[in-house]
Amino acid sequence: MSVIEGTLRDEARAWLAENWNTDQTLAEWWHKLAAAGFAFPQLPEGYGGRGLPQSAARIVAEELGRIGAVAPPGGLGQSMGAPIIMDFGTEQQQQDWVFRLSAGQESWCQFFSEPEAGSDLAGLQTRAVRDGDVWILNGQKVWTSGARTADRGMMVARTNPDVPKHKGLSYFIIDVDAPGIEIRPLKQMNGQAHFNEVFFTDVVVPHDRIVAEPNGGWMVAVATLAYERQGQGGRGGGGGIQAGSPGVKNGDLDRPLSELIQQARAEGEQAANDRNKRTAGAILQLAKDEKRTTDPTMRQRIMSMYSESEALKHSNGRARAAAQKGKQPGPEVSTAKLTMSSLSRQARDISLELMGPYGMLADDDAPYDGAFHTMALSVQSASIAGGTDEVQRNITGERVLQLPKEPQVDRDIPFNEIRGLNKR
Ligand SMILES: Cc1cc2nc3c(=O)[nH]c(=O)nc-3n(C[C@H](O)[C@H](O)[C@H](O)COP(=O)(O)OP(=O)(O)OC[C@H]3O[C@@H](n4cnc5c(N)ncnc54)[C@H](O)[C@@H]3O)c2cc1C
Repeated sequence: MSVIEGTLRDEARAWLAENWNTDQTLAEWWHKLAAAGFAFPQLPEGYGGRGLPQSAARIVAEELGRIGAVAPPGGLGQSMGAPIIMDFGTEQQQQDWVFRLSAGQESWCQFFSEPEAGSDLAGLQTRAVRDGDVWILNGQKVWTSGARTADRGMMVARTNPDVPKHKGLSYFIIDVDAPGIEIRPLKQMNGQAHFNEVFFTDVVVPHDRIVAEPNGGWMVAVATLAYERQGQGGRGGGGGIQAGSPGVKNGDLDRPLSELIQQARAEGEQAANDRNKRTAGAILQLAKDEKRTTDPTMRQRIMSMYSESEALKHSNGRARAAAQKGKQPGPEVSTAKLTMSSLSRQARDISLELMGPYGMLADDDAPYDGAFHTMALSVQSASIAGGTDEVQRNITGERVLQLPKEPQVDRDIPFNEIRGLNKR
């Protein structure tokens, strides 16, 4: 343990002994954490942090977890928005938003994907046209997680269609309740409505909402996706109890911590129960319950799943150890996501086969409270979110195996001359 880590741990422990109690509201607690620089220690002082290395967040998370305190706010604004504004925003933007994000006073969503632009994000068609001091936004986004409870959104829009696609994009921070924004929830096959499609009609966005230069949005978008990948590796809220997502709209901010902790524990158990159904351990238990552990083919499939999940565990451990020593992410990061989506699919296929017709039953009165059924209808997202499996393979091929780059025939052609894309 370094001197910085030891000092931080001692300071965090002493501070928590004085400041943690469950009588305060969530808003009061998150504000205190941010003001003391313990919410996101890797951010600069005055913005919710202490200007420490990324590994400092883990120390604070461990101390929060040790006493069962509520974790700092987690969400796309906190994991991606705040560091992006610190990297690319103006001083005014940093002052307007970063502390508020660290203190959970607002929640952000990500307006990137469109019906015809997901993997090929640079092909997006939402337009922003300048009109004096404002930009007028028109278009559609899809897959927007959490748009209904978000206060603001990270938006990439096309501001110059006459140049190649990567060069004519700008990055805005927009207010989700601005006139002209319509949010429609999308119901998934597992019954939840995590995503939304969002329509923008003549939405007015002030010029000072641009992050970086006009038409310089691609670089900011790529950096946002890098923070997203880092978050998938566990950068978010960390240890301690997760008590709802931040933002005024979900109504949690004014509730006392005692109440929220009780609710978070109940929801956490349910979520862990659902998540655990994807593990090799849960599948083995199911095979035992169904008396199929003597079936040689089934044994082989479960063993193969178990071996893969053990390899992933150790590989993730290696990646964490390297990151703590300040090393750049290696090939294990590229393959971890592919392994996770493969394991999810194996859990789905093996569990449904083991359960036979009972696997089709949903809800609490089904076997295992319908948890395997819910899992089977939810695992598809693992191979799509944050870059599809095919895209991960392309990245692995190019950056890890040093194979030739995928041909990009439209890279240098003005966007409005690319056939099939200039529809609007
Ligand atoms: C759980 C979840 C949460 C999400 N949250 C958000 C969010 O909050 N905000 C947001 O903006 N987006 C969000 N997304 C969207 C996500 O980023 C996109 O779904 C993803 O980038 C894929 O884009 P697409 O769905 O348009 O598929 P497409 O890009 O159209 O891909 C379709 C198929 O073609 C394949 N393909 C595409 N290009 C290539 C290639 N070059 N080589 C080989 N195969 C290729 C893909 O692998 C896929 O199988 C979320 C998605 C999920 C599942």
